[in-house]
Amino acid sequence: MFHSARIKLTIYYLSVIMMVSGLFSVVIYQGVSDQVSQGYRQAEQRLKNQEKLHPEMRNIVINHDEIHDFFLQQLEASQKLIILRLLFINGVIFLMSTLLGFFFAGKTLQPIEEAHERQKNFIADASHELRTPITAMKTGLEVELRNKKIKKDVKDILESNLEEVNNLQSLTDYLLNLSFYQTSNRTRSHKKIDLKKIVDGVVKKLEPLVDSVGVGVISGSGGDYVVKGDKDALEELVTILLDNAIKYSHKNSEVIVSLSEKSGKVLLSIKDNGIGIDKKDLPFIFDRFYRADNSRTKSRKSGFGLGLALAKEIVEAHGADITVNSKSGKGSEFVIEFRV
Ligand code: ADP
Repeated sequence: MFHSARIKLTIYYLSVIMMVSGLFSVVIYQGVSDQVSQGYRQAEQRLKNQEKLHPEMRNIVINHDEIHDFFLQQLEASQKLIILRLLFINGVIFLMSTLLGFFFAGKTLQPIEEAHERQKNFIADASHELRTPITAMKTGLEVELRNKKIKKDVKDILESNLEEVNNLQSLTDYLLNLSFYQTSNRTRSHKKIDLKKIVDGVVKKLEPLVDSVGVGVISGSGGDYVVKGDKDALEELVTILLDNAIKYSHKNSEVIVSLSEKSGKVLLSIKDNGIGIDKKDLPFIFDRFYRADNSRTKSRKSGFGLGLALAKEIVEAHGADITVNSKSGKGSEFVIEFRV
């Protein structure tokens, strides 16, 4: 993120410097060229005056037109030379500005980058610190709920508390994972992974959660879809997308997960016929905590708006691309392109 910002800032610096330098070059060219042509005109005039004063010179000087042409040629040659010199100077300015601009852009962004890094570490540390008390609370509530002697109203309160604690736990997990992928040195090692196995595993894992939505897996025959990546991260990615597809589907509809190969790339598509995403929401769905109106109001689906932000980080950490094609009321398709 900061690398592309540094390049952009360098380009801005460079554009301003080159604009000023170009403007000065035009002014210098005009000024010098006017001076030179005035000099030639004066020399020509002086020659003519000499001719009037010393008529014997007529025998030496051949012809006025030839003299004029000669001065004109000299003027053009001088102008060319000025242009070449100005181009050379502008080239040097361009090179130096690129190097210095890149250096100063880095210096300008450094404190912002450091503050950003501190903020990410803070989120990671806070989420990490929250994990232990949340687990303790969860265990306590679960143990207490097993107690058959507690009254119905107390049990209801404990169940609702447990639900909130579970939500809190998944929020801290999301934040922890997000901050892990957003730190500049993502240290997880990448191995060869069969995506088909990952998909099958996630479908199986989510099966108990799927009551009225069918999930179908399609993959071309014979091909194994091996990509380089981190197994846990890829499982998380498929879980997020498949979970969303199921969550935002209507009852008795179907979600299709398909794997295919295209021009040396492995494509993973997760397609549903659910509520779809409004055009105005599409540019923001990968932003942290963004939830489209229809998921927050109409159907009130649970979630924090962090799943797709995490999915995007995982996709980028694998050097892959994610695209979405969706129409409100018609359904959505998320496609990930892995370079093999
Ligand atoms: P959430 O926890 O709200 O599902 P996500 O980051 O996973 O958060 O998704 C962001 C928003 O994108 C969701 O709130 C929802 O509005 C929209 N969205 C994501 N996937 C789908 C889908 N398959 N169908 C419809 N809307 C979706």
